[in-house]
Amino acid sequence: MSGKIFCHVLFSGLVFVSAAFSQTALSPPLTSHTALKAKLEELARSSKVMKLEVIGKSVEGRELFAAKFSRKHPIPQKDRKKPLVLVFAQQHGNEPSGKEAALQLCEEFARGMFDDLLKKVDVIIVPQMNPDGSERGVRRNANDQDLNRNHILLDQPEVAALHALFRRYFPEVTLDVHEYNDYVPGRLRTGWVRAYDEMLGAATNPNVSKALVRYSLETIMPGVGGYVRSQGFSFHRYLVGGPPERYRYRYSTTAINDGRNSLAIYHTLSFIVEGRRYGDLTTRLERRRAAQRAAILGLIRTVAENGKEILRLVQQEREALQKGAAAIPFIAPRSNYLHVAGVPLPLRIELIPQSVETDTVFRNFTPRLKVPFYLSRPVGYLIPRRLTEFIEILQRHGVRMLDTFPARQCLTETYRIQALSTYVSEEKTYLDVSVRSRFSLQTVDPGEYVYVPVAQPAGHYICLVLEPQSQNALIQYPQFYGLLQVGRDYPVLRALEWKE
Ligand SMILES: [Zn+2]
Repeated sequence: MSGKIFCHVLFSGLVFVSAAFSQTALSPPLTSHTALKAKLEELARSSKVMKLEVIGKSVEGRELFAAKFSRKHPIPQKDRKKPLVLVFAQQHGNEPSGKEAALQLCEEFARGMFDDLLKKVDVIIVPQMNPDGSERGVRRNANDQDLNRNHILLDQPEVAALHALFRRYFPEVTLDVHEYNDYVPGRLRTGWVRAYDEMLGAATNPNVSKALVRYSLETIMPGVGGYVRSQGFSFHRYLVGGPPERYRYRYSTTAINDGRNSLAIYHTLSFIVEGRRYGDLTTRLERRRAAQRAAILGLIRTVAENGKEILRLVQQEREALQKGAAAIPFIAPRSNYLHVAGVPLPLRIELIPQSVETDTVFRNFTPRLKVPFYLSRPVGYLIPRRLTEFIEILQRHGVRMLDTFPARQCLTETYRIQALSTYVSEEKTYLDVSVRSRFSLQTVDPGEYVYVPVAQPAGHYICLVLEPQSQNALIQYPQFYGLLQVGRDYPVLRALEWKE
């Protein structure tokens, strides 16, 4: 009897909790998708500088909005005289401050508050990438997928829409807005949390142009940090890891399945910003929103101040991608942060539960990236037509694929799979595929293969997902494990040279 009552109470309790979640009922309230839509539409109607576009829909059919700001629409898709910044927020539905800050900035830009900035830069803001998750107050989208791990497969409509927008404009600068939350039991037990309002991360994948990474760290990072601090908030370069009693600290993942690196490998000045969250969705919301606004605005201002140099630098590095192997002869298929003991990491922390901030120095910091080996880039890849899933994934990235070949004869390289094991990088296990190469001059049948030249904007993406030894390879996904059999050939061929 008592068990029955208990079950009943528990059951109705659960129903109550899930049915009752509403962003607008929180204190302070968060902006619902309905309210966000109404606000953006109202702003677009009255603004001289704003155009609103629906770039796609979420799994549950909610519109994804891009608010575009320029003194002269349409924003050029190429040969720009000013750099274009693309900001996108709330890929994770339980990180609302980015959305609130982005929406505030949409209003400020729309009402003419930053007309001086728009003389030097154009801006596109996608304030809410994951409306379905946001409506539930959860990280993932309605398909229970983490959108910020979906930028390789691109099979969720929200990220596919973002990439389609990106490829339409190829903005010089992109910013992915998130929140980090140290107020979870595992971290609170250590007695302290990280005390930075904002942390900004640059591209980390080792294939991103060195010149762009250097520029990100030497010019843009200090520019944003200076502005954020001038607005009364604390700032640090983005670190992941910890608590350091148990784990190391390092810079964030080199994987290209997140928003930042997936756009950076197009040779974009691409960033992620992580604002501080205090456990639940709404604690200190006003401060969080203001800090995120400062970080986004700090980036836009820094880009505006360096517009000419950014245009020149990004254009120069993107030309190298277009030239393929001729300009970029090698690819780094793997990387990991070197375990070197004793690199000091000064960090500002807040002691819990005293709520006192203090400076400390940690030792298990591994800032340096190691690339264990490089591979030569082929001129292209030959994908068997029966690998329809590979072809569809590349199509979602707008990859150029040819049904006809530069010549009939091709010097090809085929990988024979020698052994399969695993290795760990960035605290994650990957498949280690050992291969032996076989070279042959063969007549390629266009009925059997499509040809993917590497000399195109997505060149790095193509190499990184098709090379079986790559940490970002499609064969790292379980649905493709079947393509790996010891003693058999890997089905995708490397095209080394076309011969008449
Ligand atoms: Zn996030």
